Amino acid sequence: MAKTGGLGDVVNGLSYELAIRGNHVEVILPKYDCMRYDRIEDLRVCYEDLWVPFDGQWIHCTVLEGRSEGINFLFIDAHGEWNAFNRGVLYGHRDDAARFTFFSRAALEFLFKSGRRPEIIHCHDWQTGLAPVMYYEIYNGLGWNDARFCYTLHNMGHQGRTGAQLLSQCGLNAHGLMNHGQLLDDQHPHTVNMMKGGIVFSNFITTVSPTYMEEIRFSEQGQGLQGVLNRHGDKVGGVLNGLNYGVWNPELDPFIPSHYGPDNLPAKFANKAALRNRLLMREAFKPIVAVVSRLDPQKGVDLIRHSISVALANNCQFVLLGSASEAWINDEFWRIKHQLNDNPDCHLEIGYDEELSHLIYAGADMLVIPSQYEPCGLTQMIAMKYGVVPVVRSTGGLADTVFDANYADKPFEERNGYVFNDLTHDGLESAMGRAIGLWHRFPDYFRQLRLNGMRQDYSWNQPGQDYINIFNHIRVK
Ligand code: ADP
Repeated sequence: MAKTGGLGDVVNGLSYELAIRGNHVEVILPKYDCMRYDRIEDLRVCYEDLWVPFDGQWIHCTVLEGRSEGINFLFIDAHGEWNAFNRGVLYGHRDDAARFTFFSRAALEFLFKSGRRPEIIHCHDWQTGLAPVMYYEIYNGLGWNDARFCYTLHNMGHQGRTGAQLLSQCGLNAHGLMNHGQLLDDQHPHTVNMMKGGIVFSNFITTVSPTYMEEIRFSEQGQGLQGVLNRHGDKVGGVLNGLNYGVWNPELDPFIPSHYGPDNLPAKFANKAALRNRLLMREAFKPIVAVVSRLDPQKGVDLIRHSISVALANNCQFVLLGSASEAWINDEFWRIKHQLNDNPDCHLEIGYDEELSHLIYAGADMLVIPSQYEPCGLTQMIAMKYGVVPVVRSTGGLADTVFDANYADKPFEERNGYVFNDLTHDGLESAMGRAIGLWHRFPDYFRQLRLNGMRQDYSWNQPGQDYINIFNHIRVK
């Protein structure tokens, strides 16, 4: 109902997995104006007058409750002039640090006043970094002390660096907390680092893949937080994200015209025809190379751009679905789109389109993911489930899930894609060249690679158990 990338998938999939294992799960979100309200059932007020202290005033909120796939969702609706959550987008405003810290404070205030006493509060990314800080610094003193915090780092590229006045706005003691052991950013003077706060104050920290945890602890990829992660090394761990196969499953997917699985792979190809039809591309004996991605520097935008020419020069068709985070990237891809407008082998769709993404996975043959860094990456796992061969750079979660057809140190049944190391045109071309060559010259082998990917288990089964073990380890017994 509120998604721009993998975090939306993860909260959805993990909540569902925990619930089917008999846990009571509730998800708290801001009540954004731009949510998919068609995905929320029975939306109704559950707490009328929640007054939240923030920035020297009491802000009037209402909490609404709704259900989706059997999970209870709680939405904080903030009234008043500030209009914290009705911005037409989920994030991207100058006051984001204040908006999400206010959300965190409101969520805690709601839990406290409504008498809910969760054993575990699981927070995600910098936006909620101050929630465990406020819990221990404010609510413990009010007698609430039986909750424990798990904090998941989805991307170290966004840490929530902001001025110290935010601390007094949300009721924290700036003077006491602005030191290197707690909230003070290690690289910028007088700056609060919200993610660092989450790391220091939570009871357990996870990242979304084991390789990314290694990378952020022991390389520049920690983006300044290596030291604090290592000081807290006894409470960190990497858990690979799972996929919600209730949502991402070509045997059941409501957004694709032809259902298929490893036992009836030929049915996949009706989706290829449907994709061409939908995007006005011609029918041809060529593989479809696809990209589904946020168009962010992290995702390797230069190599994404280069993959278009590599595909078209090597007898392939190309489809891109991408949402740009910055104006220059948006302009650049619109320029390319205009340039290729009349090419019947290519379509660029710039924007965010959940339904179309399903049809692309179902119709494509290869998916290119040339990320600079990738904490976990879900698109390669979705691709594999849909019989699409991923071509990826070896980093973070991509390195944990994609094993090269030629070079992996794995038995053949576990090889499922193509991998390159160097973040260069040559690196990308070498892997794409091998994948495309295989499609054209050794179709049986290519089919086998598709099946290897489809048969791998990237569900929430194992990661769900890992999270339960972590929660059991930290909860108050
Ligand atoms: P990140 O969280 O960094 O964006 P992930 O690979 O973890 O990357 O997750 C991406 C998720 O967002 C996938 O479900 C993917 O299908 C989806 N996605 C990315 N870009 C778009 C887009 N432009 N339109 C629709 N879905 C998208």
